[in-house]
Amino acid sequence: MPILRIPTPLRSYTGNLAEVPVQGDTVAQAMESLMQLYPSLRLHLYNSEGHLRPFVNLFLGQENIKDLQGMGTPLKTDDRILLISSIAGGSMLPSLSHEEILRYSRHLLIPEVGLEGQRKLKAASVLIIGTGGLGSPVALYLAAAGVGHIGLVDYDVVDYSNLQRQVIHGTSTLGYLKVESARNRLVDLNPDIQVDIYNEPFISANARQVADPYDLIVDGTDNFPTRYLTNDLCVLTGKPNIYAAIYRFDGQVSVFDARQGPCYRCLFPEPPPPGLVPSCAEGGVLGVLPGTIGTLQATEALKVLLGIGQPLIGKLLLYNALDTSFEFIKLRKNPNCKVCGSNPTVTELIDYDAFCGVPGIGHTQGSAGDEWDITAGELAERLRQGDPIHLIDVREPHELEISRLDGAQIIPLGQLASRLPELNSTEEIIVFCKSGVRSERALEILAGAGFRKLHHLLGGINAWARDVDPSLPIY
Ligand SMILES: [Zn+2]
Repeated sequence: MPILRIPTPLRSYTGNLAEVPVQGDTVAQAMESLMQLYPSLRLHLYNSEGHLRPFVNLFLGQENIKDLQGMGTPLKTDDRILLISSIAGGSMLPSLSHEEILRYSRHLLIPEVGLEGQRKLKAASVLIIGTGGLGSPVALYLAAAGVGHIGLVDYDVVDYSNLQRQVIHGTSTLGYLKVESARNRLVDLNPDIQVDIYNEPFISANARQVADPYDLIVDGTDNFPTRYLTNDLCVLTGKPNIYAAIYRFDGQVSVFDARQGPCYRCLFPEPPPPGLVPSCAEGGVLGVLPGTIGTLQATEALKVLLGIGQPLIGKLLLYNALDTSFEFIKLRKNPNCKVCGSNPTVTELIDYDAFCGVPGIGHTQGSAGDEWDITAGELAERLRQGDPIHLIDVREPHELEISRLDGAQIIPLGQLASRLPELNSTEEIIVFCKSGVRSERALEILAGAGFRKLHHLLGGINAWARDVDPSLPIY
């Protein structure tokens, strides 16, 4: 059966379907079949004489049907017709109800938004990857602003330690799927919008399908595999990527749109080696920082959707909360970029997990491989038996105030390489940190220096607190 591809502004007439299977041996019959299915579309696409309106174009593959045989162009069963409409006049945009006009009255008063801009937002669709620190303000503000269709991707449940910054969730939704908790809040904030949720890891197998119905992607991830996947997907499918990253007191924001400027890979061609850059859970973040940065992301998304102002294309914003500094650096498109350059080598989506070993969404962080791992239970048993073990805590000094293990030598990860002479390679060494990420990096340093009798505590001192000594707090 031929497929008719519906442009975003018209999907409110097709029950939000992006692709509609139709019947017919010619384009005219296929369009008539679409009208039978969705009669309200006829008014928008045809004039009173029954001719297609001039701002509606139909493409078969890459050819305009006007250059083929017009409406009489024959169709094969696997043909795909693209319906492309001009939306400049706003005539294809959905209308607003009286309630919506009241809800968005503060937008309608700004000439840069106005009624037409608000209708553009209603017709718009945004996919938000991650419903954590960044995804929380992005989703809340885009929903409040009236973005008509929001998609949420995450693969986790709401945890107590999330609430310090992930303000879309609440104490009442602890233990819920994050996407469900977030959807509940968004629908409460704005019941007029459509929120679709994807409780699955965002990987090459599903990324294209999940992202297909959306105009714009917001990168709210905290890991490199998803960040590179999101970038490559946006380049390959021609969608803007609203990017941000946060760490402790620092944030970055940019808009990557390879059609008009650089992409993330133009700036960082490859992910860093595993463990070099700590994750948010391992490195910590001031809770309000993702609020500041995520709100900037939401602002950029709204500017792109409305076509107003100068989005951060070709610029990277660097923010530091401690000295309240905003700096901009210019980004240039790299002509040799692996994905958006003139001779790209990345032409398919890649699961970086498999190729660089950085943990991604849904994967256990800090697992170096079985032969290096020791569980908290195993370590407790070995210590009870009196085995000679040299324990090394590679956390920072201020973390020792939270929890510590008796008898462990304190060597913060940053000092480990220079303090190797203190260690005896004939002893069995077990390193640990908070949750197992930094200790994995410590293993690499020690193994690289020739140490062989090595393990690291899987899940860090938090796993010890959970499984062995509940008197210690988990942080
Ligand atoms: Zn690029």
